[in-house]
Amino acid sequence: DASLAQADPEVAEYVDRELRRQQETLEMIASENFASVAAMQAQGSVLTNKYAEGYPGRRYYGGCENVDVIEQLAIDRIKGLFGAEFANVQPHSGAQANAAAMQALIKPGDTILGLSLAHGGHLTHGMRINYSGLLYDVAAYEVSKEDYRIDMDEVSRMARQHQPKLIIAGWSAYPRHLDFARFREIADEVGAYLMVDMAHFAGLVATGLHPSPVPHAHVVTSTTHKTLGGPRGGIILSNDAAIAKKINSAVFPGQQGGPLEHVIAAKAVAFKMAGDPAFVDRAERTLLGARLLAERWVQADVADAGIKVLTGGTDVHLVLVDLRDSELDGKAAEDRLHSVGITVNRNAVPFDPRPPMVTSGLRIGTPALATRGFDARDFVEVADIIAEALKAPVGELDPALAASLRDRVAALAARNPLYPHLVSGAVD
Ligand code: PLP
Repeated sequence: DASLAQADPEVAEYVDRELRRQQETLEMIASENFASVAAMQAQGSVLTNKYAEGYPGRRYYGGCENVDVIEQLAIDRIKGLFGAEFANVQPHSGAQANAAAMQALIKPGDTILGLSLAHGGHLTHGMRINYSGLLYDVAAYEVSKEDYRIDMDEVSRMARQHQPKLIIAGWSAYPRHLDFARFREIADEVGAYLMVDMAHFAGLVATGLHPSPVPHAHVVTSTTHKTLGGPRGGIILSNDAAIAKKINSAVFPGQQGGPLEHVIAAKAVAFKMAGDPAFVDRAERTLLGARLLAERWVQADVADAGIKVLTGGTDVHLVLVDLRDSELDGKAAEDRLHSVGITVNRNAVPFDPRPPMVTSGLRIGTPALATRGFDARDFVEVADIIAEALKAPVGELDPALAASLRDRVAALAARNPLYPHLVSGAVD
């Protein structure tokens, strides 16, 4: 019964270091967030020990009386949150949710139509060496060269040309709303299913601050750890009873064995919290923060340094920074922000001339900072810190500038403490 620190000081030390890294730096990776202490407690519980193949009330193992209640709570809460008739909360991740949803709807060899990875789509939407590209015939739509937005007439043209069995709407790097009603219209025209992958913006949908795909799509998939703020995991929603049945079989036994009931418990906690007024406030600050970043960066002094905001702004929790006209590439920009205590990820922009390991873009998101309490003033300050870092000449940052930016980052972190009551005893 030794503690982690006693049983495994090496792992404990790096868990402790990671806690401090999260507390002391500013997390602006758009797909990340901070789960609540309550959700982490549920995930770190004895539920990790339980096998529960099957679904609540229909298990292949005995002793499921407690996990049945917990999984049913998760199901009922997520259905309520999104107004869906059916939910499966077992997918281990967003990628597994997508794999199961596709397995439920189409057959290997069928054609799928999704947003190109290079233009903001996800690996599971048809990337060549992902399961989705290996199992299915892939056609991909792109954003328009003129305004970097998805052109629905082009989606319609592609759908008529390729006759997909499944159309996927959703993204990992796209700063605007999607027209779910039009996607459904196009799907109906060609006899395809519509799957919306709302992994990135699910938390905004839950609060009514983003249009909901649920009334339009045959199936909606999501992760639970991005804007939704829960543990790492996936979910699948639908309003169609026949599809729901196929989804349950596709998740188990189709894709997975035993569900992770400890993660499902943490999902249940997160879904409860997502229904609280405090979560709406968080989602509002998430959106406000992204809007403020974009507003600061479209100003002349930043734009003159070759730093552009793709589409000129954002409707969601992230901003795509376009560095094609800057001497600083995506890799150098990511490293420079890391050196002052801000974590972002480089990201190819559409029509990117630089190679994928370098890129000409940054994807910068606000969910994690909103969770730790950032308000408008804090977001303006972090926008200005980032602009100053990116505007400086290529090469090493001037040491005095770097030191002053690091101090400003530390002040923001101190003003918005993260997990203030979590103290690891790892290195005692
Ligand atoms: N779908 C989208 C749109 C995503 O952005 C992601 C993650 O980045 C996923 C699915 C996959 O989620 P996971 O990493 O949990 O497999």
